[in-house]
Amino acid sequence: MGTRFAAPASAGAPLGDGASVPVLVIGTGYGGAVAALRLAQAGVPVEMVEMGMSWDTPGSDGRIFPKVTSPDHRAYWLRTRTKAPVSNFFGFPIDKDVPRFTGVLDAEEFAGITVYQGRGVGGGSLVNGGMAVTPKRERFGSILPSVDAAEMYDTYYPRANAALGVGSIDPVWFETAPCYQYARVGRKHAQRSGFAWTFVPDIYDWDYMKAEQAGTVTRSALDGQVMYGNDAGKKSLVRTYLSQALATGRVNITPLHRVTTVSPAPGGGYVVRMEQINTAGDVVATKNVTAGKVFFAAGSVGTSKLLVKLKATGSLPLLNSEVGKGWGDNGNVMCGRANHMWDATGTLQSTIPCSGIDNWAAGGAFAEVAPLPTGIETYASLYLSITNTSKRAEFSWNAAANRVDLSWQTAWKQDSITMAKTIFDKINSKEGTIYRTDLFGVYKQWQDGLTYHPLGGAVLNKATDNYGRLQGYPGLYVIDGALIPGNTTVNPFVTITALAERNIERIVAADL
Ligand SMILES: Cc1cc2nc3c(=O)[nH]c(=O)nc-3n(C[C@H](O)[C@H](O)[C@H](O)COP(=O)(O)OP(=O)(O)OC[C@H]3O[C@@H](n4cnc5c(N)ncnc54)[C@H](O)[C@@H]3O)c2cc1C
Repeated sequence: MGTRFAAPASAGAPLGDGASVPVLVIGTGYGGAVAALRLAQAGVPVEMVEMGMSWDTPGSDGRIFPKVTSPDHRAYWLRTRTKAPVSNFFGFPIDKDVPRFTGVLDAEEFAGITVYQGRGVGGGSLVNGGMAVTPKRERFGSILPSVDAAEMYDTYYPRANAALGVGSIDPVWFETAPCYQYARVGRKHAQRSGFAWTFVPDIYDWDYMKAEQAGTVTRSALDGQVMYGNDAGKKSLVRTYLSQALATGRVNITPLHRVTTVSPAPGGGYVVRMEQINTAGDVVATKNVTAGKVFFAAGSVGTSKLLVKLKATGSLPLLNSEVGKGWGDNGNVMCGRANHMWDATGTLQSTIPCSGIDNWAAGGAFAEVAPLPTGIETYASLYLSITNTSKRAEFSWNAAANRVDLSWQTAWKQDSITMAKTIFDKINSKEGTIYRTDLFGVYKQWQDGLTYHPLGGAVLNKATDNYGRLQGYPGLYVIDGALIPGNTTVNPFVTITALAERNIERIVAADL
């Protein structure tokens, strides 16, 4: 089936100090992968720089990635202790010490929120649940008000969905597959309370999922792999956009290099300064590369942090005052419900969610029915809600601490909790059940300290023009989740990809 291991994404020699290149892309997530592929197809050589590793070599256990239940050094980005979103079980903390390593999941801590992000060639596509959701068209005006909805829904969403390999679960198979018992329980409870329940498309290979259930292939989603990476079945960017980009022969990826500065070069173009790091995170070299054009695709947080620092410290002083603003958490909040003993959710749970509850119009919440793949019966239903919160934070340069801060406050999640409760209070009341209080701490009902969906910080048509060109600096572009002002009403990567497709088409036509 060809899905056992991810194809190596990194080819060619790493970028050398003093190199001069036409285009440099910072980051290898969705925005960066779209930019690289379309530029290369237009005949432009592209150098991609990625701070994380290329995840292509199995460890001594034969796996590239660890399971969610047994994180090791590969799990976390330069931490010495894990920081699992479900941090407790029956009230007992489950985090543990791990060796510091350039692992695949970053739990980046700001004062009021922990932002989870993928690190490595493929960015967030390495660690996410693959839920590939196109927002309802009538909601698009609130997501990206300056973008023509017709061109997105006629051209760029279809293009993104096709290139990402988005597919749907076989609804007949779903009815009996043991690994989706938890989703069927979620459906039953949602429907008995009168909520709209829906299948959610995903980029996981659904044939491979069936084969995992049948026991004919090596298990990945059915063996507890997701948040710390999937060895098989997952069509991450490494297997879609990035492999296509590399196949053009015009794209080179340099992993374990972190961009620190971008500034105008005396003779035109930009000097990009970067640090080469080893797997312990130590800087082993610094390099300067000159690039004609630079695409910021370091993710909402990575791009925003770079731009805010570069404006404040004098490298790019002409960036406008919108830089760093308009950041949101996509309204993420998690909760668990304690089911009755007759509503077991199953000992075998696919890590790939396949369904959601849509109460956006009435209550401002879209909740995915999430797995809790512990291998034992938990009688718990777990949910990640995306909510219509209006709270937006701002990144700012903290000169004394030499870092970028984020003004998010934990208390702002109360809006999201209130919206999520429009679903779960009703279900609990109907089912005679209660919230689990043992999953996110000791006696804590809501996981209100995190987001998986950072968005904004260099908002389209504000910090940039309407196609991602940064104000004040011809040849500098933003092409990732930083462009989207804080909320997509559903899981975000299809919208990030489609917007990148729209913008790069214009940039290739007009700027190259
Ligand atoms: C656990 C988890 C589950 C998720 N599940 C889903 C889901 O099911 N569906 C969905 O739609 N979304 C999901 N998401 C969110 C989704 O993955 C992100 O929205 C998406 O990856 C963002 O794309 P991006 O192109 O903006 O940036 P990213 O994918 O974050 O890529 C940015 C890349 O830039 C690199 N980088 C950052 N700074 C630098 C630097 N200074 N120098 C060099 N490289 C740098 C990073 O290492 C990273 O590889 C999930 C996220 C997580 C963490």
